[in-house]
Order: sequence, then structure tokens, then C-alpha cells
Amino acid sequence: MSLSVSTSSQQLEPPEQSGRSRSPRRLDACLWCGREVPDAGSGRRRRYCRQSCRQRAYEQRTAVKGSAFPDDAVVLTAEEASALVDRAFEVRCAAEDVATALSEGAPHADLEALCRDLVQLARDAERLR
Ligand SMILES: [Zn+2]
Repeated sequence: MSLSVSTSSQQLEPPEQSGRSRSPRRLDACLWCGREVPDAGSGRRRRYCRQSCRQRAYEQRTAVKGSAFPDDAVVLTAEEASALVDRAFEVRCAAEDVATALSEGAPHADLEALCRDLVQLARDAERLR
């Protein structure tokens, strides 16, 4: 037994992370829909958030095979792409609302509510479909 690893420090925050990180690591995104794939604990990482996503991805890979599209192409319908852009736009509007409220000296409770909306919209905007 030459290998001895102390696990006591692993419960602590990484020492190099001082202050709030600008880009925290995101959970893995579902390769089909882009939603976060919940961590299933130990074991290998899942690539899809649910069985239907795995199935749709398989169907698309089959459809794309032999075409000019790369195997890992992400193909969205015009409607899906439009909805994605719309969600991003909603996030911008919500962010601008926060900025406006701040510049106008809005009460703290109002800012909190606007930030809650912003976070919720941003979370929803992370998905592809
Ligand atoms: Zn998914």
C-alpha cells in the first residue's frame, strides 16, 4: 500500500477559486435537446437527458448518414431555430429590464424579482429544442 490519498480536503472548495467564478462549469448538456443531463451519481456520464432524446438522436444520425452533413450535425427545424432565437431575445429583454431598474434606483425587492425572471429565462434558453 504505497498509494495513500487523503480525502479530507475534497470536501472543501477548490482553493484557486477566490470569489465568484465568471463561468461556472455547466452540467453536461443533452446531445439532443441541450438540457442539462442530471448527474446519475457514480458510473459513466449520460449523454442524453432521457430515452426519447437518445432515440431522436439515433434517428437523426441514421438520416444524416451518407449525406453531406457531418455525423454530429445538429439539425434544427426552422421553427426550433426560431424558438431558440426567441428565447435568447427574451433573456436579453429581461437583462435590459434589470439594467433599467438598476439605473432608475428601483427597490431591492423589484430587482430581486427581475433577477429571478432573468435566471429562469436564461435557464430555459439553454436548451436547443
Ligand atoms: Zn434531452
